[in-house]
Amino acid sequence: MIKVQGLSKIYGEHIAVDDISFEVKEGHIYGFLGPNGAGKSTTMNIMTGYIAATEGDVEIDGHDILKDAEEAKKCIGYLPEIPPLYQDMTVREYLDFVTELKKVDKKERKNQVEEVMKKTFITDMQKRLIKNLSKGYKQRVGLAQAMIGNPDVIILDEPTVGLDPKQIIEIRELIRELKKDHTVILSSHILSEVAEVCDEIMIIAKGRMVASGTAESLLNELGSNNTIELTAKGSKKEVTEILKSINGIKSCTVDNASGGCVECFISCNSDAEIRDDLNKKLASKNISIYRLVNDSKSLEDIFLELTDDAYVEKIEKEESEKEEKEKALKAKQKKAKKSIAEEIVEELKDDETVEETEESKEETQKEAADDNENINKEEE
Ligand code: ADP
Ligand code: MG
Repeated sequence: MIKVQGLSKIYGEHIAVDDISFEVKEGHIYGFLGPNGAGKSTTMNIMTGYIAATEGDVEIDGHDILKDAEEAKKCIGYLPEIPPLYQDMTVREYLDFVTELKKVDKKERKNQVEEVMKKTFITDMQKRLIKNLSKGYKQRVGLAQAMIGNPDVIILDEPTVGLDPKQIIEIRELIRELKKDHTVILSSHILSEVAEVCDEIMIIAKGRMVASGTAESLLNELGSNNTIELTAKGSKKEVTEILKSINGIKSCTVDNASGGCVECFISCNSDAEIRDDLNKKLASKNISIYRLVNDSKSLEDIFLELTDDAYVEKIEKEESEKEEKEKALKAKQKKAKKSIAEEIVEELKDDETVEETEESKEETQKEAADDNENINKEEE
């Protein structure tokens, strides 16, 4: 449905978007998650054809956003960070105007405006001037204009920013409703929002896509340090037996410690909660827990880690080191190829010299024969 390939945007010396690629499939809600200045709005502005990329391609339903802009734009409804509202129009006038802009069939305009007003619960506000609406209602009008033309994809840039908690809940509800008929991409700097509303999360930091997947898969891949440190009073054998009987343990070590205790280090599956089971089973064997520490990463921890400057710099460094290595390897290969080529040329040259000498031998022989003939003739 949407294919983004190698997207970059450079402002002067500053890289706002750095080689981002991803694909969006029908019927899901995707979330761009990243701190302020990460490059979310820039990416969305490029995807919707508002600004041009420095490098890369965007394809919407098979239409290139630059080469086939009109068709591509028909497939997208966009609510930018600052909604493009005309403050002195009424809600109805503005939405009528948007149907004209989007070249909606004249016969369908009235129906569409009424439908989007109904879906965003603003029918009662249609005669109000936009400037007199609350921020929450303005945002709904923004959503309504994005829905006009019934586009396949709706892109929403920070749709809940600046709203109060009640308005946030209402807009989130609306976004979930949108999923029934549209593919939705939204951006946010708030993890809980993206985790709650979106099926797929793309974490962006410093213009780069640092991770992507469902909340569950991100936790599984990156939140793998769900560990338990346990000190219990009991025999190594008994504790080991109990640990073996508990589901959700990836690996563990059990060591004897002082005072008749054992110390265990247990690594669990990311979504496993083994403490209740562990407690009960140890208690049933009269083994007391002296110390238990659980250390697990939440999605919040992962987000903070991934968007941390040091982490992004580490990735950048690793990538540039990899590039350097690849360059060095290529140079080596080139050099090796060159020396093989040189050897072959040398060999060819040697062959030619041999041939030459053979040729010149023949020539000398021929010359000698000619000379002989001449002498013979002269003698005659
Ligand atoms: P986000 O939406 O994630 O907060 P933006 O996409 O707005 O981030 O910005 C990404 C980076 O690009 C920021 O560092 C911002 O300052 C810079 N930037 C955005 N637009 C411009 C522009 N028109 N000129 C120069 N720098 C810009
Ligand atoms: Mg932004």
